[in-house]
Amino acid sequence: MRFAILGSGSRGNSTLVHSHNSYVLIDCGFSLREAERRLARLGVVPAQLDAVLVTHEHSDHVQGVELLARKHGVPVYYSAGTGRGLRKPVAAQGLLVDGERLVLDALEVTVVQVSHDALEPTQFVFDDGRKRLGVLTDLGEATPGVLAHYRGLDALVIEANHDSNMLAAGPYPYHLKARVGGVRGHLNNRQSAELVMELACSGLQHLVLAHLSEKNNNPWLARACFTNVLGCDADWLQIADQQQGLEWQAIA
Ligand SMILES: [Zn+2]
Ligand SMILES: [Zn+2]
Repeated sequence: MRFAILGSGSRGNSTLVHSHNSYVLIDCGFSLREAERRLARLGVVPAQLDAVLVTHEHSDHVQGVELLARKHGVPVYYSAGTGRGLRKPVAAQGLLVDGERLVLDALEVTVVQVSHDALEPTQFVFDDGRKRLGVLTDLGEATPGVLAHYRGLDALVIEANHDSNMLAAGPYPYHLKARVGGVRGHLNNRQSAELVMELACSGLQHLVLAHLSEKNNNPWLARACFTNVLGCDADWLQIADQQQGLEWQAIA
């Protein structure tokens, strides 16, 4: 299995997972044209995609989904709640249900509902029979489902959205600070690092920090927080970028 990130942050999110002949995209928070450009950077064309899994209806996750489905016939999966929240409706190939498994050719996907200010947000654990990858962004706190499903992974992409001091001192109005920092908002650096500790991820080959806020975080702070909490090598940690995303990472 291998994975790559087309881009990550409040201006668009999309992650690509590949095993054998299966390509699965998680979210498409870019215009179709931009998504095509970013897929091409990774050597993939939309026609190769077996599915797009939509985590939730926020625009930084769904912008290109409808066109990807309509122009390229890519099957789309989302939860019932997310379907109700989509501003540009698109037919679902299947509905995602918390705790259930979806088999997409070589990849088995476990659906995990998370705590976030959307109608029925989900995140995913991928298993190709050999290795397991967790993708976990857009959550304000770790709920029992997260703690149950994200243990013992080989690779993890996890949100490190903000630094709590930067958020408190930053430019957001009070209600937005409360929303972002709340239990249905986003994980801050420390919460995220402590969650990785709690998940006992000693076997991780890759740990990727994602969905960093451009206004309320920076890569140096996030990296310092994780190396502090985990005691890991700063060079081993990777950070997904809004523009460049992250190149292919093989899970050996
Ligand atoms: Zn988001
Ligand atoms: Zn969101």
